[in-house]
Amino acid sequence: MQSSSWQAQLAQAFTSPSQLLGYLGLQNVPDLLSAEAAGDFPFLVTQAYAARMRRGDTADPLLRQVLPVADEMLVMPGFVADPVDDGAAVAAPGLLHKYRGRALLITTGACAIHCRYCFRRAFPYADAQLHKSREQAALSYLAQDASIHEVILSGGDPLLLSDERLASLLDRLAAIPHLSRLRMHSRVPLVLPARVTADLAALLSGTRLQAVLVLHANHAQEMDAEVAAALALLNQRGITLLNQAVLLKGVNDSAVALIDLSESLFRHGVLPYYLHLLDKARGTAHFDVPLPQALVLYEAVRAALPGYLVPRLVREVAGRAAKIPAESLRKIVK
Ligand SMILES: *Cc1c(COP(=O)(O)O)cnc(C)c1O
Ligand code: SF4
Repeated sequence: MQSSSWQAQLAQAFTSPSQLLGYLGLQNVPDLLSAEAAGDFPFLVTQAYAARMRRGDTADPLLRQVLPVADEMLVMPGFVADPVDDGAAVAAPGLLHKYRGRALLITTGACAIHCRYCFRRAFPYADAQLHKSREQAALSYLAQDASIHEVILSGGDPLLLSDERLASLLDRLAAIPHLSRLRMHSRVPLVLPARVTADLAALLSGTRLQAVLVLHANHAQEMDAEVAAALALLNQRGITLLNQAVLLKGVNDSAVALIDLSESLFRHGVLPYYLHLLDKARGTAHFDVPLPQALVLYEAVRAALPGYLVPRLVREVAGRAAKIPAESLRKIVK
């Protein structure tokens, strides 16, 4: 791809499903789409990401992650607006403090792609994100609680902040003496790899804080040469690269897909961290893989890979002290 600026690439992203379907040679499948679902959560897919989809294939695992379908409008018991009770964890505007030692900043509501399975698809970003104008309250909260050692930049996607905004935020975080780690959760290296410039890599690794980036890749097909180059830049700067995936029906719910994902991640210098069971957000029930099936898949993955390439299969349960390993959920469910 011509290296136009990442801002220009973001401005050129597909913003309607019919544009993307036309590009993929799928004009003749309008029944796949739901305008109502697209109205509920807007459509957004970068060209870099679309370029990795297979032409003419409605079952493509990347397409499945972004296509608004009628199933999203079904009201399903147990699938709610805030499945993990983030609302209860808001400690200051834009700051969630749920687990000991770690606090999470909702740095922005913006993403470079809109994933239909997103657990924050109904999150009230307008009220709850960290505007520059009011970040002082969140920073004061962090500064006053010496038990917090790790700050997590989340969103939305923190890597959509400008270099200037990130630099100023990181400076202020690094000035808090009890913080030792800076963690970022992002899909940007996958969906907008042009954003990962040498300057950005230098910026993220340039504070006294130990930097960790948790990538959110769900399928091996999401990684190509451009993504590899972006990850290499981060790796060269000594940023620890981990991956968190979501187990998604129709996307990666096979042992082969999960094994390929782990192996591809490792080739790109990334270690698998979590494989999340779906958070039950409203409109995502069609992605759900039932726990018994997830456990069978997980056994197959474990039997095929070295332990360091096996992500922890977990679910977030509201009110618990940590994400819960799936094996221990079996006792609750069965
Ligand atoms: C998941 C999560 C974390 C991080 O949990 P880890 O198990 O350390 O990855 C931190 N804060 C919030 C609000 C979270 O949802
Ligand atoms: S927050 Fe993450 S999962 Fe949700 S739409 Fe944005 S990039 Fe996708």
